[in-house]
Amino acid sequence: MPAIKRAWNFIRDMLGFRINSQYVKNYLNDANIKSSIYMSFIVIILEIWMIFRNANKYISNYWNSYTDKFDLIYTYTGLYALFIICSAAVLIFAISYLNKKNNKGLFITNLIFSGICILYPFLLFKEHLGFANQKAVVSSVTTLIVYFSMPLLGGSILWHSLYRNKTGNKHQILSMAVITCFAIVCLAFGIKVGYSDFANPTTNVEKLKMITCFLTMVIFVACLLIWKPYISILILVSIFIIFMNMLKGYNDRPFLEADEINYITFLISLTMIAISIYQQRVTEAKKDEKLLHDAIFDRLVDINNEKYLCDTVNEKLVSNPNFYNDKQFLFVNLSNFRIINNQKGFEEGDKLIIKFSELLKEIFNNDLVARQADDHFIVFTTINDCDNKINNLNDQFKKLINGLFINIKIGIYKPKDFESPYTAIDKARYACGLIKKNPEILFSEYDDKVDEKFKKKQYIVNHLDEAIEKGWIRAYYQPVVWSDNNELCGAEALARWIDPVYGFLSPADFIPVLEDNRLIHKLDEAIIEYVCSNMRRAIDEGRPVVPVSINFSRLDFELMDVVNILKSIIEKYNIDKKMIHVEITESALSENVSLMRDNLLTLKNDGYSIWLDDFGSGYSSLNVLKDFTFDVVKIDMTFLSNFETNEKTKDILDCIIQLANRLGMKTLTEGVETIEESSFLKDIGCGRLQGYLFGKPFELSIFEQKIKDKELVISNKIL
Ligand code: C2E
Ligand code: MG
Ligand code: MG
Repeated sequence: MPAIKRAWNFIRDMLGFRINSQYVKNYLNDANIKSSIYMSFIVIILEIWMIFRNANKYISNYWNSYTDKFDLIYTYTGLYALFIICSAAVLIFAISYLNKKNNKGLFITNLIFSGICILYPFLLFKEHLGFANQKAVVSSVTTLIVYFSMPLLGGSILWHSLYRNKTGNKHQILSMAVITCFAIVCLAFGIKVGYSDFANPTTNVEKLKMITCFLTMVIFVACLLIWKPYISILILVSIFIIFMNMLKGYNDRPFLEADEINYITFLISLTMIAISIYQQRVTEAKKDEKLLHDAIFDRLVDINNEKYLCDTVNEKLVSNPNFYNDKQFLFVNLSNFRIINNQKGFEEGDKLIIKFSELLKEIFNNDLVARQADDHFIVFTTINDCDNKINNLNDQFKKLINGLFINIKIGIYKPKDFESPYTAIDKARYACGLIKKNPEILFSEYDDKVDEKFKKKQYIVNHLDEAIEKGWIRAYYQPVVWSDNNELCGAEALARWIDPVYGFLSPADFIPVLEDNRLIHKLDEAIIEYVCSNMRRAIDEGRPVVPVSINFSRLDFELMDVVNILKSIIEKYNIDKKMIHVEITESALSENVSLMRDNLLTLKNDGYSIWLDDFGSGYSSLNVLKDFTFDVVKIDMTFLSNFETNEKTKDILDCIIQLANRLGMKTLTEGVETIEESSFLKDIGCGRLQGYLFGKPFELSIFEQKIKDKELVISNKIL
């Protein structure tokens, strides 16, 4: 059964019975229109040549003997001219059809030629009709067909030109009518001329075999204009049967068996060529369709991409300046989406993205919906009824995820007149980002307050280079002490941006912005430079120094060559590698694991101490300990947040420290603010402490002053 089915499918595809997509149909139609340019052009050249040839021949040879010379010339040139007119009309039509814009000059030329096509047959009508013998019948019938098709051709061109002039659109069926009429004219002309050569008593024996005109026309029609294969077969077989039977039935000339074999062989070859060209064009069309699809559709889900959405909005804006009046952009994000990827794998994550995009498309069915990337979507919708749609989306989504802790977050932005869609999306995204960490809030509108923050964000992005260059960015140093004697064993470098416009900016203001914009590596490189250069100066000036931990973002490892940059700066200032600790937050280690592992391993082998920051703040903390080896684990300050009230806190801290010890790692607890916390941590064996109890992050000069004043006592054992 499958074999039969496969065979049937093969035949069905080969004969072209499968219904093509609209894109493929348009592609094939356009290809035919293009071919008709070549075809009509060749025909025009051929017919002009024929007119000259005949005129020359008749004038020189028959001028004296032929009685009605004018009639003869008129008859032949009239017919050839007819064909030239049809071809020229098709040529102009095809050129204007393929033109993207409606051109006035071409429109008028089309009108003129279509008018001539409609009227011309009436001028010649009487000349070519006669039914006295078979030759006259064939000639008359084919002439009638031509006379009938030519006004139809002209009519279709006229109709199409008027339609396009009025609506600006093309009409595929009318264009097919033009091509079909042209094909009929060609075939009828081919039969007429081919047969008249055969049946002309004045032609010599060699010329008997001359059916070139017929064959040329058939080749034109079958190979240049590509129909669905079953239509090509129908045209070819019927036209050959008609023509062969006409030749066979002509009494005065013999039609040999060899001729018949030649004809049939030719018919078969032509059929195969027609089929193969069709298949080739369909394959090309499908490839083209896929490329186009990929360019405007998302790779994973069946909705458009951001570029398409923005291009479409831009196009509409050009033709309608009020287009934005009642519309707004939504930026939709699925917060905590990582959970599903981490817990159930990427395949399940993809499935959820697909289902969610289907939901979006269904609910915002009259709007533009696109996927930006990952779990980020964009909707361009009317303001009216938008709230209901958002609530509906949220309700349906809750059913879809069945209890998983993933939330929809939506940023809404109503664009200003002519504002770029990209900027508008950026603003909607920004409004969305502000509620990322608040599970209760479903959507946030971009208002004046948000606008202030957005401008600040833009400012940060646009002024980062200047800030680094002019020293607005520097590190503050927070003391790290030994738990047993509270003596200084190191410091953490924490970035600060002291801005001439915005004043003091803390990492919460700029780190997420720089990470979002993939610029964080520039800041981190500047901090390494700041720390090392100052350490060098202190050493040179004979002041004491302590090891400094530097924070690295996960993105640093993607955006720059951390290992080499660190190495070159360290070498430039001739700093001992032991004096620099590489701090990396645990959430950074859940993505791109192998890249992180390779880099951390290289750094460790190079002699740096690797510290795990914010341990316990993420959801994959223990896995991180399994996959990486650290010198020091920094226990996140959230563990201390309810130290007094929650008894379990102490047990948990105790266990973490024991666990780290067992794995051969040292410990540090961050955010120590009270003496109780400090002594408890000392008792359970946490080696290092950091927090406001021992010192806030200080400007370098203050930090150094405190060391000088012995407010901070440097331990003998600093490494
Ligand atoms: P972190 O690395 O965990 O740094 C500790 C943060 O806790 C610092 O905030 C510090 O000021 C604060 N802190 C220290 N002790 C206490 C305390 O006793 N109580 C309280 N409530 N807070 C305390 P800061 O300086 O605002 O830095 C925040 C985060 O920004 C850092 O967390 C780090 O992840 C990131 N960061 C800071 N500087 C840089 C940098 O140069 N590069 C990168 N990539 N990230 C940085
Ligand atoms: Mg840190
Ligand atoms: Mg930390």
